[in-house]
Amino acid sequence: MHRGRPGDVAVIGGGLAGGLVALEIAERGLAVVLVSAGSLGLPTALGPAIPLGSATSWSYAGVLGPDLGAWGQLQERHGDLGLRRRRLYRHGQAWLDPSRLLPGAPQAFGQVDLNRFYQALPLALDRLGVRQLQAQVAQPPRRMGGLWQLELQGQADGPPSLQVGQVVLAAGAGCRALWPGLGESLRSSWAGILHLEAWPDPKRYPSRWLRRARGGGVVLPQAMVRPALEQRAGSLAQEEWVVDPGLACLGDGLLVGQISLVRPGLELGAPPDRAVMESRLRQGLGHFDPVLAELPARYRQVPVSFCLDGKALAGPVAGAPGLWALAGFRGAFGEVPRAAQALADQITSSLASPREPPGPFVG
Ligand SMILES: Cc1cc2nc3c(=O)[nH]c(=O)nc-3n(C[C@H](O)[C@H](O)[C@H](O)COP(=O)(O)OP(=O)(O)OC[C@H]3O[C@@H](n4cnc5c(N)ncnc54)[C@H](O)[C@@H]3O)c2cc1C
Repeated sequence: MHRGRPGDVAVIGGGLAGGLVALEIAERGLAVVLVSAGSLGLPTALGPAIPLGSATSWSYAGVLGPDLGAWGQLQERHGDLGLRRRRLYRHGQAWLDPSRLLPGAPQAFGQVDLNRFYQALPLALDRLGVRQLQAQVAQPPRRMGGLWQLELQGQADGPPSLQVGQVVLAAGAGCRALWPGLGESLRSSWAGILHLEAWPDPKRYPSRWLRRARGGGVVLPQAMVRPALEQRAGSLAQEEWVVDPGLACLGDGLLVGQISLVRPGLELGAPPDRAVMESRLRQGLGHFDPVLAELPARYRQVPVSFCLDGKALAGPVAGAPGLWALAGFRGAFGEVPRAAQALADQITSSLASPREPPGPFVG
């Protein structure tokens, strides 16, 4: 067993939230171990063991809101993390240039190239001395002798358990299983997407939306329907799903559409039937542009956490000193960098003055 000190921090979850908060905490001088069940399976030549990254991360489009400042600052400190400027196309409209879309903020629209991000992040963590473990935290952390104990499963080598003073729950839709008492606002959904690893032949698949994405654009609906479904998740009597047609490049390939399925209640539940979900997604895309429905793409689906009121959990967990949560983001790529910074500040200041409550509780 790894025996820890009060100032040692374990971050559970190696997705966007866990990765960035681990960086922030390590930059403040604390010893950090990042434990994640997911792996991108990047070539080991790229760095250390690279256990990092959500196995699901390839599904994410990485589209940011208007605020590129926080990513810019991250890149100043850690090098290229994949931030790319993009042109935004909205359905049914001529191209909107960023200055018209966002007055006073020309070019303020971005996307994180996730292939680049998940290559660069483990190396940045390594430079800061963050220990990276690929393992599943098998049950809720237990408080023992003023420390938290984590039971680990599924790792090739390394300790079967860890003891640390601080634990950050950044496990996305896995957070509730790790701490069932988290606030009821935290929910989870299943999201699916079509993934093309290479661009389709434009003669066979003639679509102006494909052309625009290929030219470096991101295509989004005027108004996404997913957030509205998330908002009414608290009053659902049965599961509901919606399709948001959109396109964004990912590395040398493309992500198309997004289907979101939300169930009543707090539990994620079993993955929905993939064939049914894919057919619904293709049907939804077909209403938008029939060419997209026929694309030779693979369907992929992942669990995603969200909060009913759109306010992510980012702070201490009620009644559990040293336990913190960072999950449930609506616009994760836009929101997480600042939230991770603020949480790292809260954790370090709580260690400097342990008697003072560090802020509003999140669960
Ligand atoms: C198709 C799609 C497109 C999207 N596009 C965008 C977009 O363009 N812009 C945007 O802002 N957001 C987008 N999102 C949402 C965004 O990707 C997610 O909100 C965000 O990636 C969540 O990051 P996270 O780190 O909180 O969780 P995750 O990425 O889910 O990471 C959680 C990690 O925790 C690990 N884990 C879980 N349980 C355990 C455990 N018990 N022990 C150890 N590890 C555990 C998992 O393996 C995983 O690695 C999209 C989502 C989908 C599905």
